[in-house]
Amino acid sequence: MPRTLITGGAGFLGSHLCDRLIEEGHEVICMDNLITGNTENIEHLFELGQDQFRFVEYDVTDYIHVSGDLDYVLHFASPAAPDDYLRLPIQTLKVGALGTHKALGLAKAKDARLLLASTSEVYGDPLVHPQPEDYWGNVNPIGKRGVYDEAKRFAEAIAMAYNRHHGAETRIVRIFNTYGPRMRTDDGRALPTFMSQALRGDPLTVYGDGSQTRAFCYVDDLVEGIYRLLMSDESDPVNIGNPDEVTIKEFAEEIIEITGTNSSITYEELPEDDPQVRQPDISRAKEILDWTPNVDRKEGLRRTLDYFEDEVDAVPAETS
Ligand code: UDP
Repeated sequence: MPRTLITGGAGFLGSHLCDRLIEEGHEVICMDNLITGNTENIEHLFELGQDQFRFVEYDVTDYIHVSGDLDYVLHFASPAAPDDYLRLPIQTLKVGALGTHKALGLAKAKDARLLLASTSEVYGDPLVHPQPEDYWGNVNPIGKRGVYDEAKRFAEAIAMAYNRHHGAETRIVRIFNTYGPRMRTDDGRALPTFMSQALRGDPLTVYGDGSQTRAFCYVDDLVEGIYRLLMSDESDPVNIGNPDEVTIKEFAEEIIEITGTNSSITYEELPEDDPQVRQPDISRAKEILDWTPNVDRKEGLRRTLDYFEDEVDAVPAETS
């Protein structure tokens, strides 16, 4: 039975990875300091015995101790929603830098393979579109978003240094916008915000004129891509995301339609350094991992809506 540590395992993506690795027969140790994660995301796994699943509340910016062998370390701990990393700038820099260093040190000591959760934010406000992995990006290091972007860029750099200098087995996934059940309804990102607003009958707050684009990947597709990368021999970064690009205004309209709300759209100021476009070039993932996403947005939004309907205190649209 492979033994795997997932940092940030109580978060949105981390908890889905806990599920997947348990399904694959791994023993999973889930570590999270719960500043943005939530044990509700993993509580269904608590009924498994401690020999299959264990939760440890811990901040991985400090030395990480795990007794016994480890085969894999998945480093997913980090605030990832812009509102969260703007609110937690130092923690974000620390977990990307110090946390990645500790996770790599642990992986090296255990001779385990480490997979780093990186991000499309390493491309910043990109001047190349769509973004292939060999694009170096356009990041403002001292802008407010720089705390996340630069932390992840450092994390990639140190992972590659451990790979080259220590021969550590490292994998780097660059994750593009992802959505699905277990997103925090109040994390400030476009989808949770729009869905919560639509379900409450409130106006949807589109930032700027809504012409900026994103490409949204359903979480199950993302997890499949990450699993394939973890099992592959590829140590260079690999983009995982759904290339189906949409403007934020269109996205808001789709959510209005799928929820059947009579909410309107209001326009608010565009946040600083908000990328104008974003779309993954997934040629590398196709070629190396034989991976492509297969849940389209309509289906993904429908599945996500089921979850948000339970989470959001819905006021019927007609009465709002
Ligand atoms: N956005 C918006 N209204 C909101 C939240 C976000 O228009 O209530 C926009 C945001 O400015 C960005 C896009 O939606 O252009 C996606 O934002 P998100 O926070 O989901 O993540 P990002 O892709 O910027 O990391």
